[in-house]
Order: sequence, then C-alpha cells, then structure tokens
Amino acid sequence: LKHEGEKLITTHCSYCGMQCGMHIRVSEKTGKIKGVEPRYDWPVTLGKLCPKGVTAYQQIDHPDRIKRPLIKKKGRFVESSWEEALSLIEKKFTELQDKHGKDSLSVFGGVSMTNEKCYLVGKYARVALGTRFLDYNGRFCMSSAAGGFMKTFGMDRGSTLPWTELEHSDCFLIAGSNTAECHPTSIQMFWKARDKGAKMIVVDPRETPTARIADVHLDLLPGTDSALANGLLHLLIKEDFVDKEYVENRCNNFEELKASVEPFTPEYTSQLTGVDKNKIIKAARIYGSSPRSVVMFARGVEQQSKGVDNVTLYTSLALLRGQIGKFASGVATFTGQGNGQGGREHGQKSDLLPGYRKITDPEAVKYISGVWGIDPEEMPKAGVSAFEMFDEIHKGTIRAMHVVCSNPAVSAPDAEYVWEAFKKLDFLVVNDFFLSETAEFADVVLPTTTWAEDEGTTTNLEGRVIRIRKSIEPLHESKTDWQIFKEIAARLGKGKHFDYSSPREIFEEFRLATKGGKADYSGITYERIDKEDGVFWPCPSEDHPGTPTVFKETFATPNGKANLPAVSWQEPDETPSEEFPIRLTTGRVVFHYLSGNQTRRIDFLMEQCPVPFAEMHPELASRYNMQDGEKIRVTTPRSTMELEVRLTKATRNDIIFVPYHWGKELAVNKLTNAALDPTSRMPEFKVCAARIEKL
Ligand code: SF4
Repeated sequence: LKHEGEKLITTHCSYCGMQCGMHIRVSEKTGKIKGVEPRYDWPVTLGKLCPKGVTAYQQIDHPDRIKRPLIKKKGRFVESSWEEALSLIEKKFTELQDKHGKDSLSVFGGVSMTNEKCYLVGKYARVALGTRFLDYNGRFCMSSAAGGFMKTFGMDRGSTLPWTELEHSDCFLIAGSNTAECHPTSIQMFWKARDKGAKMIVVDPRETPTARIADVHLDLLPGTDSALANGLLHLLIKEDFVDKEYVENRCNNFEELKASVEPFTPEYTSQLTGVDKNKIIKAARIYGSSPRSVVMFARGVEQQSKGVDNVTLYTSLALLRGQIGKFASGVATFTGQGNGQGGREHGQKSDLLPGYRKITDPEAVKYISGVWGIDPEEMPKAGVSAFEMFDEIHKGTIRAMHVVCSNPAVSAPDAEYVWEAFKKLDFLVVNDFFLSETAEFADVVLPTTTWAEDEGTTTNLEGRVIRIRKSIEPLHESKTDWQIFKEIAARLGKGKHFDYSSPREIFEEFRLATKGGKADYSGITYERIDKEDGVFWPCPSEDHPGTPTVFKETFATPNGKANLPAVSWQEPDETPSEEFPIRLTTGRVVFHYLSGNQTRRIDFLMEQCPVPFAEMHPELASRYNMQDGEKIRVTTPRSTMELEVRLTKATRNDIIFVPYHWGKELAVNKLTNAALDPTSRMPEFKVCAARIEKL
C-alpha cells in the first residue's frame, strides 16, 4: 500500500455515513496529499471505496477552495483579512441583538463535521449568541428515523446491530434506499450473505441497481409506504409469523396494532400501493420465515410528511418477528451524512441538548448549564426546525443567520422560498471551503478546513465512534469551524466558555456533557478508539465495552418494552390532480454527494453525471410524445424547471424521478413540497404532484 516517499494517514472518507476506512497518502517531501488508499483492515468496509471516496482527496487542494475570508461589497465578494471579517460579524451580530433581541440571530448547522464541531455548534448558538433559533441539515436527512426510533425504542441509534454481522443474516428488507448507489460499499455485505442463501426484498418505486438484485421488488407508488408496511404486518399476523413470546414479553400495544392492520388485506394494500398482491404475499412469507432478518430503510421512507409513521411501521415488522437485540438481526437506517448519527445526538437540534437530552427537561438544562458554566436561566428555550427557521426569516423574527457546513439553498425543499428568505436577511455568514449556492447569498464567507486538515471523531451509521485524523496543516488562510466559534465567542464576551486549544480538549468536555444522557459517550477516549478500532455508544464508563448490539435485554422506554404504534394510512400531502397529474420523486446518483457542492467540482464525477435529468418510463413518455434526450418542462404548484428526458423501463409508469444534487435553475428542490412531518418536522421531499410538458 505504501508508496515510496509517502506517509499514510489512517482516517475515514469525508462523505456518507458508511465512513469507509481509508489512508490518505501524503508526500514526505512536499507535505502535499497525493491520493488515497482503501483500508483493507477496516472491519466494516474491508478495503472498498466508491467513486466519491476514491476522489475525495481532490477537494482538499482544489483551485476552487476559498482562500481568505470574503466580504460582500457593492454586490461582489472581496477578499479580506480575518480581523476585518470577524470585526464585521461582531458589529452586525451585536447591533442586531441590541435592536431586535437575542433571537434575531440564528444558526443553521450540519452533520458532515466531527462530533467535536457538531457539539460546539449547539454551544455556540446557545452560549455565545444566546439564541433559541438553532437547527441543522439533519432535519432534512435522518430526523424521521430518529423520531421513529424514539417512538418505538425510546432511543435513537440508527442501527440496532453492528454491520459486521450482516453477512450472517438470512433476509434483508430494504425500503426506500438505493443502497447500491447511495451506500455502495455496503453491498458486499449483502452479497456475502446472499452467497450463503440470504434473501433480499427491496421496496422502491424504481428498479434501482439495488432492486435489480432482489428476490422480490415491491415497486410501490411514492408516498404509500405506511399502507405497504401495514399490509406486511397484516400478513405476518394472519400467517402466524409473530414471535408471540417476544411480543408478549418485550412489546407494548400489540392488540391495538393488530386491530389497526386488520383492514390491510393483500388486495386492499395492492390497491393503495400499486404493488401486485402476490409480490406482497411473497415478501411477507420470505421475511416472516427468515430466522435472522434485518429491516433497513433510508430517505425514500423517511422524507415524507408521514415519515415517522413509516419508520415505526417498518420497525414493527422486526419487533413482531422478535428480531431486535439478537445476532445478525435488527433494524437500521442508512445514514446519509458522514456524521449523521453523532451530529444529531449532541445539541444541534432545536429541541435537544448534548447526550440526546431534551431542552424542555429542567434537569437536562441544569446539567448542561453546569458543564458549560452558565446559569440555567441563561439557557435559551427550544427553537423551531430547520425549514421553519425560513418561515421565521420571512416573518422578520430572524434577522441574521450563521450557516455552518451546510448548503440549504440546494438541499431545502421549496427552494425559491428559501432563496427569498436568504435575500431578506440583514446579515448572513457562511462557513465553507467552497463557495456554495448558500454562500453566494452571504455577506461574509469564512474559509474553513476540509476533513483532512483537522482531527476529531465521527459516529458512523452503526453507532461506532471513530477517529478522523489530520493529514496536513490547514491550507491557505482557512480555519477550523471550532476556531471560528471560539474567536466569535471571544468577541461577544463569551470567550471563557470556548477556551479550547485542540479538538481533544473539546472531546473531553463533550464526553462529560453526554454523561448520563441516552447517547452516552463518556467512556470513550481517543486512545480507546485507536486501540479498539472504534467504540459503540452507549458507553457510560471507561471500563464499559461499548454497545455494538442495543436492546439485548430491555428497551429505553419507561417500562422497558418497545412500542408498536398503530398507525392509520394517510395520503401524502399533495396527490395528483387534473392540473398536476403525475407524482414526482427525487433521489441521488452514485457520483454525487447531497447538495453537490463538493462532488460537482471533481472532474471525474462531473464527467459521469454533469446535470440532472427526468427519468421516466417509455409508456409515460409516449403519452406525451416525448423521446429519450428531449427537453421537457416539469412544473409543480411551487415552480418550474427544464430537464432532459431519460427513458427507462426501470421506473413506474406513473412517476418521474429527478436527482437533486444541483442548485439554481438546475435545482429540483424548487419543485419539492415543504409539508412537514408533525413529529420529526421532515419535509416531504419524496413525493409531490407535477405536470410535464414537451418543449
Ligand atoms: Fe464509503 Fe460513502 Fe465515502 Fe463512498 S461516499 S467511499 S460509500 S463513505
């Protein structure tokens, strides 16, 4: 692996929640990064990297890096010194809070950062700025999974089992995840299991590369997951696949669930979902008869206005089969962002404090105030969710925003509404290393380091806490996000609360802040992570082994039993009409990561997929006399855009699919619906009504 004249820095990929193990190759002579090598001894991904991971290093010394702070003057960005940029931020933040109160400021965080930085985002908002308006981009990503797991298990850990056990499973039910494109390196685990006879059921409106390798593909109409899951639950009960002893001893609410799923016969479920009833029966029998099964889902299920309901119903399948807390069995969500798990646990959510503590709990406020050295009275109250912060800007409550490691101008739904909100702000600060579409709206852009220029920890999609190691010193004049928070806090008179000199110091405080919380990291140290190749939370003491499998004995609910919520079927917020007769759904392609701010700058990735497209079935296209490669207009009640048609029989004939990795006129999120789930406040990205016209 080692190349002559180079050293290898052991770390993990910067992108998705797989956090594949890799080494960064650094020239011993020049100190420059030369490339990456996969880490064959990383137990989860065993030397596999996807096209994004292989090229991730190219963002580090990319010519598009923002080299110095930028200040917008007369509509144009001008390079400035840090002193000038930070003085301007201090002046504007102070003026706005003096005039409009503490809550006139807001922070929009992200989870493609280390735990240390994610933790500090919350502290920065609540202690340095003193505002209640704080939320983050995970609200658009994993919040429905989190809400569903809290309802069923009383605790939100994205996977109930370590993924090294997947190869020993007998059956995978994968819903709303194009795993082969979005988490490609996990596919080898499914193949290993399939070589031993494991079955695979895939739920997706499209015959994705993942669905193509399934034993049963349930090609449901977007937005009908809860009907399908109710139908599968109905069959598990009716065909006697329920583990009665497990349900009796470990679950609440079985009788209510049983009554609620009673109407969901295969015929009725087929009618609602558009899936052939024989396929539904086949899937239920395969899943129901498998001794070790894993239910896995992702944004297709979660990014709906009933996302939490969907998650609880799919999770109930595993509970009825007695699959939680056992070897090679369980439930997992495919976490989108690199630190989607850790980043959501430690206080970036409007209603949470570190350790998954609720900000409405006076004891939690008292404990965290003690760790932070503030009076509990100073702790701001709960704010609003990510999308609702844009409503607050439109109302004039929020006057300034500090966006950290996030690009909501591309990733938020109803994007033009969001762009208008950015224009209305009195002051916008963005931390980023590339000039994202969000940064283009900013008054000040602060250049940050990439993942290779700082150290810290992340938590992968299993719940395993791992080390990100520094490969090179910060390039240009960039600073780490934690240094930026420290400097702004000092200027606002809160410096004593941010007196850190390294990520390790932040981690030590962070451990204390999590102690006693549901997401307890207090027994995890950098040394343990190095020695044990990661430590699973909860880990409440240094002699605790960590928890690869959760809920072995008990759940985190008040009576220790898992809940089986009875959930009635409801249509999506927007259904087809005469004016908008088809359903639009969105998703990802293998070559791009989320808003595309990083991957759209990598030549190889752009060559593979330079622009978005409208994927549709030839039968649907023929109804409109559309041909492959032609331009069409797609319109929803919110906006309109032009796209190129890509014909494929691998999608339902009553929907169109568009990937969402582009901004401005190429942003499909101009079209998507911001109807929010009542619990998770997740927008309904995955289904809205649309009209298509040939141009
Ligand atoms: Fe692995 Fe995800 Fe990075 Fe691809 S993007 S290499 S799957 S962590």
